[in-house]
Amino acid sequence: MVKVRQAYRFALDPGPAQERMLRSHAGASWFAWNWGLARCQERYAAERRWYSAMELHRLWNAAKKADPALAWWAENSKCAYQEAFRDLDRALKDFIRSKKGERKGKRLGFPKVKKRGRCKDSFRFSTGAIRCSGTSVTLPRLSVIRTHESTRKLARRLENGTARILSATVSRTAQRWFVSFTVEVDRAIPEHHARPGSAVGIDLGVRTLLTGVDEAGTVIAVAGPKALRSSLRKLRRASRAHARTTPGSRNRRKHADRLARIHARVAEVRADALHKATTDLAGRYETVVAEDLNVAGMLANRRLARAVADQGFGAARRMLGYKTGWHGGRLLLAGRWYPSSRTCSGCGWRKPSLTLAERVFTCGACGLVMDRDQNAARNLLNLAASGAESLNACGDRVRPVPDGQRPAKQEPGTAPAGKTGTAAGQPAAAGQELTHAH
Ligand SMILES: [Zn+2]
Repeated sequence: MVKVRQAYRFALDPGPAQERMLRSHAGASWFAWNWGLARCQERYAAERRWYSAMELHRLWNAAKKADPALAWWAENSKCAYQEAFRDLDRALKDFIRSKKGERKGKRLGFPKVKKRGRCKDSFRFSTGAIRCSGTSVTLPRLSVIRTHESTRKLARRLENGTARILSATVSRTAQRWFVSFTVEVDRAIPEHHARPGSAVGIDLGVRTLLTGVDEAGTVIAVAGPKALRSSLRKLRRASRAHARTTPGSRNRRKHADRLARIHARVAEVRADALHKATTDLAGRYETVVAEDLNVAGMLANRRLARAVADQGFGAARRMLGYKTGWHGGRLLLAGRWYPSSRTCSGCGWRKPSLTLAERVFTCGACGLVMDRDQNAARNLLNLAASGAESLNACGDRVRPVPDGQRPAKQEPGTAPAGKTGTAAGQPAAAGQELTHAH
C-alpha cells in the first residue's frame, strides 16, 4: 500500500443561511490576507523582514479583541483567518524563491492586496469537524451542507479507513460553491503493469482532445465529447455578446455572469473527458509518451491561448503522470523542443515549419502523408522505443517530472459537478523526462 494524495471535489447545494456563511468566510479569508499583508509591509519597512504565519496569527488574536471594529471575527471559523495567513506566508516565500531563481516556472510578483469582488472567493479548513457522508459534507461552523452530487465514493473510503481528510477548501466558481478535500488515500500500486511492454505515444491536440498510436500501430482518437463542442460554441456566442455590451453597465454584468457560467461548464466537461481518456490509457499501457509542451509559452500566443486552455494540456499531463503511476506504468515526456509535429515518423525528415492550419503532414523526403496528430503520436512512440539507448549514449539524465506532481490542487471547475468525487492525485513516483537524442 502506498499513500497518495488525492483531491475530491464536490459541488455544494447550500441553503440561504449557509450561503451567507460561505460568503462571510470567504470575506474573512481575504480580509485576513490583506490585514496580514499590511502588517508584513509595515514590519518590512522598519526591520527588512516579514511576519511568519504563526506570528501573524498571534498578532491577529491580540488585534481582534482589542479593536471593536473587528468584532465580527467571531462569526467565522478561526481556520479562515489562520489558513489565509498560511497562504500569505507561502506566497511571500515563493516570491523570494522566485526572485532568487530557486523556483521553477513564471517569475512571481509580490503578493497583491485582494480586492472585494475582484478576487476568488475561497477559504480553507485544516482542523475541526470535517466529514463526508453519502449525500452531504460537514464543515466547521457551517455544519452539514448538502452536496449537489453523491459523495459516496469518498465516504466509503473514509468509513473503511483507507482515506483520511487532510483539509477542505471551499471556493466559488460562477455562482456555484465547491468543496475540495485533500485526502490521503491508501492505494495498492502493482509492482508491474498488467501489460508489460505496451506503449503508446500521445499527441494532445488542439482540434481533437487526444490522438494516440500504440506499439501495435493501433490509432486511438479521442475527439472530445459533443457537450464540449457545443459548450464551446455557446462560449463563442456569449463572449461576442458580452463584448457588445457597454462597460460598467448592468447588462454587461449579466453577460459576464453568463460567460463565467459557460466557462465553468466547459472546464467541467473537458476535465471529465480527460479523466476518462487518461484512466483508460494508464490502464492499457505501461509506457505513455507525451510531449512536454511549454504551456506558459504557448499561452502568450493569443490565437492559441484559448485552444490550449480549452484542451487542458497541463491537466492531461498531470493526470497521466499519477494515473500511470497507480497502474505500475510510467509517463515519459519528450523534451519541450522536440519537434514531434514537424518530424516525419517514417524517415525522420524535418519540415522547416508547420502551421496549425495544416492538418495533414506531408513528408518532403519519403512522401509519407499522414494526419498531423497521428504523425506526432508516432514520433513520440518511436522516441520512447529508442529512448533508453540514446539517453545512455548522450549521458542525459533521467529525472522526475518537475511540475504537476504536487499534492493535487485542482483548478476551479476541473471536477465535473455531475460526477462523484472525481479524483486527482499524486503518486510517489510518476513520470520521467525523456530528453530527445540529438
Ligand atoms: Zn519521410
